[in-house]
Amino acid sequence: MDHDGAPTPRLPQASLQIGGRAVASSGDATRSVVNPATGATIVDVPEGDARDADRAVLAARAAFDDGPWPHTPVSERALLLHRVADLMERDIEEFAGLETLDTGKTLTESRADMADIAGVFRYFSALIATQTGDVNPVPANALSLTLHEPLGVVAMITPWNYPLLQAAWKIAPALAAGCTFVVKPSELTPLTTLRFGELLDEAGVPAGVANVVLGSGATVGAALVEHPAVDMVSFTGGTQTGRVISRTAAEHVKRVALELGGKNPNIVFADADLDAAVDKALEAVFFHAGQVCSAGSRLLVEESLRERFLDALLERGRRIRIGFGWEAGTEMGPLISAEHRQKVEGYVQLAQEEGANLVLGGGRPSDERLARGYFLEPTILDGLPSTGRVAHEEIFGPVLTVETFTDAEEGMRLANDTVTGLAAAVWTADTPKAMALARRLRFGTVWLNDFHPYFPQAPWGGYKQSGVGRELGLTGLREYQEEKHLYMNLEVKAGGWFGGG
Ligand code: NAD
Repeated sequence: MDHDGAPTPRLPQASLQIGGRAVASSGDATRSVVNPATGATIVDVPEGDARDADRAVLAARAAFDDGPWPHTPVSERALLLHRVADLMERDIEEFAGLETLDTGKTLTESRADMADIAGVFRYFSALIATQTGDVNPVPANALSLTLHEPLGVVAMITPWNYPLLQAAWKIAPALAAGCTFVVKPSELTPLTTLRFGELLDEAGVPAGVANVVLGSGATVGAALVEHPAVDMVSFTGGTQTGRVISRTAAEHVKRVALELGGKNPNIVFADADLDAAVDKALEAVFFHAGQVCSAGSRLLVEESLRERFLDALLERGRRIRIGFGWEAGTEMGPLISAEHRQKVEGYVQLAQEEGANLVLGGGRPSDERLARGYFLEPTILDGLPSTGRVAHEEIFGPVLTVETFTDAEEGMRLANDTVTGLAAAVWTADTPKAMALARRLRFGTVWLNDFHPYFPQAPWGGYKQSGVGRELGLTGLREYQEEKHLYMNLEVKAGGWFGGG
């Protein structure tokens, strides 16, 4: 334990994983991985560079072009994915402990992430084992087949808020499809991905199929995206980074999958179940201190309900327990870094300049034990003008803004008035109304009378600037496959456009 009582789980080997071996970085630089709840260094890891990215991509290329994995029978690939899930379930406490140290999220959340990762591997195992091709009804005496083949070498670049979960959403379908990959976790939170590299090795993933590199986005991330031997870039992170990646990947016409940010409206009508809507409105925005791409940070509440709803929100919001994620009873941890907290505090300030009233939180907790961590109180801002910057920009912190609407038309207009489109929720007891409104919302996920559930069986992704493509579900597998039309003439005879025969 360190001086703040943080647990010290076994740390993964602080080396890169390339070609099936733990290897040193090409350079000597290191980076300290920091516990955001205490500001203390957990461990120093190698700071990779472009040479590491190159070595890892070449290893993945060789494993794809010359190795057994793309041709391994799907039944064997499916078994291996199940083995990965088994090992994750065996080591769930260890992984959850590491994730909590690295991100600050509560142990309960980390355990849920790890259980979901096992579930994602089991889902894609079942999916790949049950896939069939298509026989196309072409007007010729021929056999016309559609085959789904592995796409190739995938560069995976992941964010710090769900470090291993986001990686798993890419790794499980890519492995199922028969791809090889290089994954680069966020430089802020590399620990569980490093440890997962070891787990994949133990599960029997062939050498070179799974490679892990470390380093900054600007050097290692960019080198992966630029590399001509990479067939696809699968990225989860900020919209601005996604834009840069998209532009660079276009040079080699690489396939790109982008899971980006959101500004997600939570729309509450006066006839909603008040208790359920209040509980979920709090969960929607304060879960993982609001550092969730689908966080319900923008509450749109029907004017006639505003006062009652706000009273209940404040009453319950005040009781949220902030603290160290590894301590029982903690409900909300810190933000990921001092810089990020500063950015979020900037939005709290800006919202007030734009005319909102600060009605809860807004400051750093007074508890001395938390002083070295990057904590921020659960914050609620009422009366946010819908035209300002705060109503449109992703805050990514424990900050809920409240706007009102007078009828469904206005509610829809406000909700859709965003350049992103990741997720939205509608609360009403009127089911036909809910279904009709859901169809008008331009978001990749719409929850009716709920917030946040996602499942490996259902697609996840964004409309508009929230991304390109989908993860999870059948579409999440197809992202890592090429479609091939295989045609066999069953009536071989001479002749053609130019006669002959
Ligand atoms: P970020 O864009 O700063 O970084 C994400 C990853 O990209 C990191 O690994 C980083 O090193 C790398 N990177 C940065 N610049 C790069 C470049 N030029 N080339 C290649 N790689 C580069 O995002 P973040 O701050 O780590 O994560 C928070 C963001 O992620 C939020 O906007 C959030 O909404 C989004 N997110 C989206 C989803 C989703 O499913 N849509 C899920 C989680 C997070």
